[in-house]
Amino acid sequence: MQIFCKKISLFLLLGFCAVFSLALCACADDEDDPEIVLYPDGELRYWLFPNDMAKNDSASANLAHGVVLDVHPKANYQLSFDADSTIGAPRLHLFRYFMDKQQRGYRMSPVRALDPQVVDGRYVYTFTCEENEEALWVTSLEYHGVYYPGTVSRVRLAGEGAFSDHMKVNLIVVGDVGNDQYDFTIEEFVTVLRDEFRRSYTSVTVDTIYVNHAENHPTLGHKYPAKILWVAGKTSEDEMLSELGGWPGVENALDIVLAHSIKDVGILGYSDLFSGNMGGGSGSTVILGAYVNAADGSEEAQPIKAIVETALHEIGHFFGLRHTTATRNDLRRVVNGFDYGDYSNIEDGLEDTPYCSDLLKSGLLKSQESTESDIRIKNFWKQTLPLGRAGSFNVESCPDNGNYMFPTVVDDRDLVFSEQQLEIIRKTLMIYPH
Ligand SMILES: [Zn+2]
Repeated sequence: MQIFCKKISLFLLLGFCAVFSLALCACADDEDDPEIVLYPDGELRYWLFPNDMAKNDSASANLAHGVVLDVHPKANYQLSFDADSTIGAPRLHLFRYFMDKQQRGYRMSPVRALDPQVVDGRYVYTFTCEENEEALWVTSLEYHGVYYPGTVSRVRLAGEGAFSDHMKVNLIVVGDVGNDQYDFTIEEFVTVLRDEFRRSYTSVTVDTIYVNHAENHPTLGHKYPAKILWVAGKTSEDEMLSELGGWPGVENALDIVLAHSIKDVGILGYSDLFSGNMGGGSGSTVILGAYVNAADGSEEAQPIKAIVETALHEIGHFFGLRHTTATRNDLRRVVNGFDYGDYSNIEDGLEDTPYCSDLLKSGLLKSQESTESDIRIKNFWKQTLPLGRAGSFNVESCPDNGNYMFPTVVDDRDLVFSEQQLEIIRKTLMIYPH
């Protein structure tokens, strides 16, 4: 059994430094009291993404002192949590979080401050923001000049985007994939991919699937010879090959990169969770391998069906879906030896997807810790790389093993998305500028 994926890393956020230096805020209707600006004092270990229904208890607990919000241009947001009746309402302060122009470190600048409406016992803060690019904002909750001492529970960030629920897909073929030694041609692959999009991604519309070969990229093609067996993460340092996203002439598409394989053992594909973008650069690609590498150094060819199913699973992450059941590796987030993982997020929080408690208990997918970076923000965002297999655990007993977002491959099943998952895909697509 192979692991579907899971670089639900937040790698792309590392690329925001460039974005931040260019982003201009044009938020209007500030309601803040200019006399009080309460900067976050927390370590910013937790974040919220639009329409995520997982519990996010750690985000609730840290909202007053600093939680990161992933926001996109022109989207409307509602941040809400249960009102604490023992104390008055706090004011929400929002700050942009960005790398300074000299790349020396991250800085914050105030964006706005808001008072809530009370709706059904919850504080609701509504804001629209005009950023030029995807951005990170950070919260604080202020109460008479100090950090809000009340209880914050069941926090949610709802988001409504301003863009279309149609999209174009750009399949980027790297190296020799589809040549004679493969079991399929690229044309056959595209046909199966198109059919599966139509069958499973019913809440959005794929207008066109473009096919481009990396060797033909107008500026980067020389780096991607046509006859090479491209192993993502080995042939190239960037496993996501994100520089190929935002293909000239097919800008603002969903970029799917198909390579020979991914260097990590047992991995069929990778995607970023939630904070993808369709504009190129970091976070703009989903990567797939036609072969999977085994621990003994061998490799195994994947049939078209497995690669396409991996694609739709990874694209699910790209558009904001968590695994139906989290693995330990999903939850762990080790920084400087301390695990900041939010273990309340053991499942996706959706009412129409079951989850498999035995899967988490099984210890499946034990993680390999990442120890490489000395940059705090990089360590903070980087998800550990998954290394592992399901081993002896029998996933047949899991009630969610027929769902596309089950975390491991299950043979001989027609996978489906639930209605709520399809709605999240649609909402997230409409939030991403494209
Ligand atoms: Zn996954």
